[in-house]
Amino acid sequence: MICLGIESTAHTFGIGIVDSEGNVLANARHTLETETGGIHPIKAAQAHILYYDMLIKSALKDAKLKLENIDLISFSQGPGLGQCLRVGAVAARSLAGMLNIPLIGINHCVAHIEIGKQKTGLTDPVTVYASGANTQIIAYAGEKYRVFGETLDIGIGNFLDNIGRYMGLGFPGGPKIEKLASTGNKYIELPYTVKGMDFSFSGLQNKVRQLINKESNENLCYSVQETVFAMLTESTERALAHIGKNEVLLTGGVGANRRLTAMLKQMCDDRGVKFEVCPRSLSGDNGAMIAWQGIVEFTSGKRQELIETEIDGKWRTDQVNITWIN
Ligand code: AMP
Ligand code: MG
Repeated sequence: MICLGIESTAHTFGIGIVDSEGNVLANARHTLETETGGIHPIKAAQAHILYYDMLIKSALKDAKLKLENIDLISFSQGPGLGQCLRVGAVAARSLAGMLNIPLIGINHCVAHIEIGKQKTGLTDPVTVYASGANTQIIAYAGEKYRVFGETLDIGIGNFLDNIGRYMGLGFPGGPKIEKLASTGNKYIELPYTVKGMDFSFSGLQNKVRQLINKESNENLCYSVQETVFAMLTESTERALAHIGKNEVLLTGGVGANRRLTAMLKQMCDDRGVKFEVCPRSLSGDNGAMIAWQGIVEFTSGKRQELIETEIDGKWRTDQVNITWIN
């Protein structure tokens, strides 16, 4: 079976093509970037519309397939920005209708976890899902992907992007902050907010904003990284201890960060827990993870009527009906 998956929750429009064994045959995408300033949802949605045609052609070319070879269409049904989700949903419905093949709406966060499991071989991890809009510590328990810890305000990637914007670094800020941090050498005390297993970034964001131009960007970025990644690592360790799992999976775009990876790895090594990072090409938002999740859910028996494919911008990880884990 071959599934074509469409991702459009936020800044990235992606078309992935995956087979039943999890082979990624294509993973075409376009991510909106800016020199300065952040991204506007309407502009992102407009970019998705503009790139759709080009991306679908390039995905089919990479996979050496024609539309007629596709057996299943899947798309990100939520969570995400309404304007952006709608572009993917319309594209998916029209493709499935035209080809007369099944259509499945996917929870974007769950797709991040499942592609990570598929590619790393982990089977029952505590997942650190650190992306632009979402930051959650998730594990499977009681027939659901439970959220053990999560941000109480903004996602860690958006937090880093905001700091980048205040510093005039452009979007996305995360990679630029990582680069600046590597030459910082002074730790500046910043608010460290972990509540139980949840965490919060907005107080920290305000504090850093006040310190811009008073401290060097290098030292600020260094201190930001040390603080927020320690917060995530503490919550992850607490979740591990609480539910007694022995694997950790790091995924989401912020998973590309070497300092975050090193901190989590050290904590896992100390506890004798296996640690894996989702391969970079599949850890940021992409269509292949949506396609793979389409295969996983279709194979486990999920079917949807057209009327059930309405987007849901606030669809939570722990609301997803899990039919594919025994
Ligand atoms: P996603 O929403 O999963 O596609 O992830 C996008 C987010 O990842 C953006 O907020 C980026 O700033 C962030 N990001 C990408 N690379 C890095 C990096 N090396 N360090 C920190 N954040 C990063
Ligand atoms: Mg994501």
